[in-house]
Amino acid sequence: MTTRKPISAIAAVLILAFSGCQSRQDFLSGSPSPVRDSRTLTIQELATRLNLRIDEQDETFVVLRDGTNTVLIFTHDDARFFVNGRPAGSAGPVRKTGGTVYVSETLVDQIRARLGTAPPARPGRPTQRARIVVDPGHGGHDPGTIATNGGYEKDVNLGVASKLAGILQRRGHQVTMTRQGDRFIELESRAAIANRRDADLFVSIHADSAPDPSAQGFTVYIANSAARESQQVAQAIIRAMKTTGLRSRGVRREDYRVLVKTSGPAVLVELGYMSNAREARKLQDSTFQNRLAVAIAAGIGDYLR
Ligand SMILES: [Zn+2]
Repeated sequence: MTTRKPISAIAAVLILAFSGCQSRQDFLSGSPSPVRDSRTLTIQELATRLNLRIDEQDETFVVLRDGTNTVLIFTHDDARFFVNGRPAGSAGPVRKTGGTVYVSETLVDQIRARLGTAPPARPGRPTQRARIVVDPGHGGHDPGTIATNGGYEKDVNLGVASKLAGILQRRGHQVTMTRQGDRFIELESRAAIANRRDADLFVSIHADSAPDPSAQGFTVYIANSAARESQQVAQAIIRAMKTTGLRSRGVRREDYRVLVKTSGPAVLVELGYMSNAREARKLQDSTFQNRLAVAIAAGIGDYLR
């Protein structure tokens, strides 16, 4: 993974084709709309982000609902929207292309701020014996990113992931690792392992790189359409990882294939930068790897509580 701001969909895909340690879902094929950019969402994506379902939709409006809330959005440009019967202002820019309605991503927060307390996101979320799949990124002929001292990302990932799996197992969770040794596994197979296990949580472990050797810090990624559980666990891991002394780059959204193809809650942790000589040395140190694993496990523990 590299540090970058999406310039346009095409540019982002081109950049990804030549850099980064993970491949992104091919979103060009799925969205022919020229109005599509990183700041717009389809109504379905908006609903998913808010944990709501599309209840009614016609040419002029859409109704999103859950057990507690009703959101009415009129779908002409700059139209009004209503949350639980109360006017909530303008929905901002609305575009329609080939029957698909695109709204501004800022609408997510505008609506979320007005939603009533929903029932628990996942009744019966297992606290004691959760099924957790830990995924050490890369492996085998795929080393991931390579540090200036020649160390491989795949080894850092496996070190931290094995320690994390051990901690979670000792806490009584049912842990599966997508790879135990230095083995190459396709991205789809990693997600398939989580789906076959009906995992309560999928945690992929990676280390970052950037052209700027001073880039540093950890990041937790979730998919663009990630449900509330993934956001919650990502935030809990970020909070806990601050105890490692590394800099937090926060929760970010990217449609990495392992995140998109996993049906349950899924996060991808970028531990820090292999391209930063100082940080790479830390990431390669077994004691520091343990600290990272303890922090990630603490975040998972907070989420499961
Ligand atoms: Zn990676």
